Amino acid sequence: MTLKSINPFNGKTIKTYKEHSPKEIDKKIAQTHQTWLSWKETTFKERSTLMMNLEKVLKSKKEKLAKLMTEEMGKPYLAGIGEVEKCALVCEYYAKNAKDFLKDQIIKTDASKSFVAFEPIGVVLAIMPWNFPFWQVFRFLAPNLMAGNCDILKHASNVSGCALAIEEMVLDAGFPKYTFQTLFVSGKKVNPIIENPFIKAVTLTGSTAAGKKVAEKAGSVLKKCVLELGGSDPYIILKDADLEYAAGACVNSRMINNGQSCIAAKRFIVVKSVEKEFIKLFKQKMESKLMGNPIDKKTDLGPQARTDLRDELHQQVKKSIAKGAKCILGGEIPKGKGAFYPATILTNLKKGMPAYDDELFGPVASIITVKDEKEAIKVANDSVFGLGSAVFTNDLKRGEKIAKHQLQAGSAFVNDFVKSDPRLPFGGINQSGFGRELSSFGIHEFINIKTIYIK
Ligand code: NAP
Repeated sequence: MTLKSINPFNGKTIKTYKEHSPKEIDKKIAQTHQTWLSWKETTFKERSTLMMNLEKVLKSKKEKLAKLMTEEMGKPYLAGIGEVEKCALVCEYYAKNAKDFLKDQIIKTDASKSFVAFEPIGVVLAIMPWNFPFWQVFRFLAPNLMAGNCDILKHASNVSGCALAIEEMVLDAGFPKYTFQTLFVSGKKVNPIIENPFIKAVTLTGSTAAGKKVAEKAGSVLKKCVLELGGSDPYIILKDADLEYAAGACVNSRMINNGQSCIAAKRFIVVKSVEKEFIKLFKQKMESKLMGNPIDKKTDLGPQARTDLRDELHQQVKKSIAKGAKCILGGEIPKGKGAFYPATILTNLKKGMPAYDDELFGPVASIITVKDEKEAIKVANDSVFGLGSAVFTNDLKRGEKIAKHQLQAGSAFVNDFVKSDPRLPFGGINQSGFGRELSSFGIHEFINIKTIYIK
C-alpha cells in the first residue's frame, strides 16, 4: 500500500511513499522508546540548545518548505513562509520558557517538604492534518521534546513530503536519532499504534469524525488524548461595529489557507440594521481575492488541498441552496484543471442547512441575519462546535462581557479575528475537542503531574 502526494494545482503525482508495515512500525516505536530512556535524563539547557538549533534550521529552509507546502496541498507561497516563521517562533518560545513552566512547585502541607514535579511520560503519538502541515506538528513537537517526551508522527496521507522534512530537520538540529520519527501509514490503520505499549498518549488534530475514533480507541486502552477538532466559528457583527474594518477582518479570516483553517471565521452573524452595508463591504472584499497558481506571490486563493474535499464542499453549498440559501457570490466549480473553488457567499441561512449546521472547510462564507444582540449570541452558540469566536463592536466593555460570559468557545476575540499565539492556550469545547495546546497549558498535557511528599 502507498501514500500519494498529488499537486492540487495540476493533479500531477509528486511522489508515492510506501506505507510502513506493522513490523516496521513496531520497530520504529521501540527505537523511539529506547531513545526516550536517555532523552528524559537530559537537562533543560541541553534541550533548549537543540530547540534553538531547530529554530535556525527552520528559518534557513523557509523558502524550500513553503514551496513544498504549495506543491503538496496548495498553500499560497507567502502564507507558507509565514507558517514556517511561526514554527520557528514556537521553538524559541518553548526553548526559553519550558524550564520555568515545569519547575517544581512547593506546596506547604504537614510534610517536611511536599511539592509537585512535572515528569515526562514517554513516547507520544501525534496524528496530524494537512492544512498547516508544519505548524500543527511544531506546536506539538516543541513543548513535548522540551518536556522530555519523544514523538511519533502519523501525518495526513497527502503531505508525506512535509512529514519527512520535519524528521530531517529534527536530525539536522542535532537531536538524538529516533527522538522524533515519522510513520507512513493511513488513518485507517492507526488503532494498533495506539495500542502499542510504548505509546503513552495520543494527540489528534483533524476532523471531529477522526477525533471520535481516536478517542474511542485511546479510551479502550486507557491512554490520554488531546483532540483539536473542527469548528464553525461564529463572528458577531453588532450595529456599533466599524463595518469597514470588521468586513476586512472577517474576509481575511474566512480566506486563511484557501478557507481551510479550523479557526477560520465560518458563520457571520449580522444584526439586521447593518446587514446591507456589511454584506456590501464583505462582498467587495471577497471579490478582490485573486484566485490562481499558489506559487505566484500575488495569489490569495489557491486550490483546495484535494479534489475530493473540494467536491464535498461544493455538495454542502448545493444542498444549502436547495434548502433555500441564496448564493450571492461564487458557488460554481471553475472550468479547467486544479482543485479550485471560488470565494463564495451564502445568505438566507437557516438551521437544517449544511452552511448553518456543519463545518464548511473552504472559502465559503455563511451570513446569518439576526434582529439584535441577544439573538446573535443565541445563534452563535447554536452549534455543535466550540473552537473560536469573535465579536465586533465599538463598545469594548460590552465586547469583553460577550466574549467572557456569553460565547461558548475555547477562545473569544473582540474586534479581531481568531489566531493562535504560542503565548496563549489553544483548543476547543464540545465537538471541537478537548485539551489545550500552546502556552504553559499545552506543555502540561502530556506530563506526569507528580506529588512528592517527604515526611
Ligand atoms: P482528517 O481527515 O480528520 O485527518 C486528520 C488526520 O487524522 C490525518 O492524519 C488522517 O490520516 C487521520 N485520520 C483520519 N481518520 C482517522 C481514523 N479513523 N483514525 C485515526 N486517524 C485518522 O482531517 P483533515 O481533512 O486532514 O483536516 C481537516 C479537519 O481538521 C477540519 O475539520 C479542521 O477543522 C480540523 N482541524 C482542526 C484544528 C484544531 O486545532 N482544532 C486544526 C486544523 C484542522 P489520513 O490522512 O491517512 O486519513
